[in-house]
Amino acid sequence: MRFLVVLACLVLAALARPSTHDYLHGAQVLRVNPQTADQVHYLQGLLKTDLYDFWTEPHGTGHPVDIMAQAFSVPVLKKTLEQIDLDFTIQVSDVALLLAKDREANQKARAASGKAMDWTSYHRYDEIMAWLDELASTYPSLCSVKEVGTTYEGRTMKMLTLNKGGTDKPGIFIDGGIHAREWISPATVTYMLNELVTNSDTYDDILSAVNFYVMPSINPDGYEYCHTDDRLWRKTRSDNGSPFGCKGADPNRNWGHHWNENGASDNPCSDIYAGPEAFSEIEMKNVRNQILDQTNLVVYLTFHSYSQLWLYPWGYTSALPEDWQDLDDLAQSAVNALTAVHGTIYDIGSSTNVLYAAAGGSDDWAKGEGNVKYSYTVELRDTGNYGFVLPPDQIIPTGEETFEALKVVANFVKDNYRTP
Ligand SMILES: [Zn+2]
Repeated sequence: MRFLVVLACLVLAALARPSTHDYLHGAQVLRVNPQTADQVHYLQGLLKTDLYDFWTEPHGTGHPVDIMAQAFSVPVLKKTLEQIDLDFTIQVSDVALLLAKDREANQKARAASGKAMDWTSYHRYDEIMAWLDELASTYPSLCSVKEVGTTYEGRTMKMLTLNKGGTDKPGIFIDGGIHAREWISPATVTYMLNELVTNSDTYDDILSAVNFYVMPSINPDGYEYCHTDDRLWRKTRSDNGSPFGCKGADPNRNWGHHWNENGASDNPCSDIYAGPEAFSEIEMKNVRNQILDQTNLVVYLTFHSYSQLWLYPWGYTSALPEDWQDLDDLAQSAVNALTAVHGTIYDIGSSTNVLYAAAGGSDDWAKGEGNVKYSYTVELRDTGNYGFVLPPDQIIPTGEETFEALKVVANFVKDNYRTP
């Protein structure tokens, strides 16, 4: 009986995620390292219960899983893990404290920089969009801004296009920020964009031969909600009629290629809620339309965090695409260049073989429906010391190393997909 009461409390608490950081005081992130298939299976079941916030998802033996529990449920989680003989370490001992330190570091960096846009701190959505406009007006022969629709809450979504060599060149589509709390993603995408545009003479050979279509922040409502209410928000902010008032869908479970077949939830309160139907989320529909508009795309790159992984389809099944070796080869070259900069180690593999099966990802759709051959999901830094709350002083090193990987990919396109 007591167990049922505790369970009921947990369920209610998980459903009604409050919109302030109070719920994170004393919250902890526990790391477990499943050693048997049974343990992995158990963790996948636990993920589906929505009782805890899985910072990383269970995907196989020997791969660590980070699970956040609110203060009142930490003892229950620990007991649960003990019952299945899973040892844990405490990865974050107080999530609220980690967030407070990070907020302070970001504010200090902003004050020291004094610039409207920089890569020593994290920026708000409007600042990023204003910076895109500024790039386009400062470098009109190089790039232009396109408004590609509005979000659920009415924000304008923008894409920067670089097509110096003409509109018919092979293209690379890049997006960031699909998961709201993964702030290093938009920061890294804008870092790379800044490098390409402001040092365009250095990269003239690439820019003359390859087009770039870049959307640094494709879940703007969620991203802003992280800034204003809940730093650890992951989903969009749409209203899907949840009787508990739960908002949003997981935008990376919302794409229409084998949508909701596995690794997603039908519960609107879940962090992995697939949405009521494929492309129910207007933001994903807007991005999809841009990808479909570009018939010249050779590469799709979507940036997430964290775990340091370079992944390719499929995510919905453990089967590999026919041309997986091509995707693997290019990923290896890109990661070698990345690692050479600061020694950061990445794992490479298909999404299902590195992660567990999860349908509805944008990379699966880009390859399966968008006909983009080289479709990748990149999980940026780190491996869990800070997780989603990566300190702002890691933006530049993350940008530097990831840009080297992007250059490898762009040079590959330049050398192999020349237009006549
Ligand atoms: Zn993500």
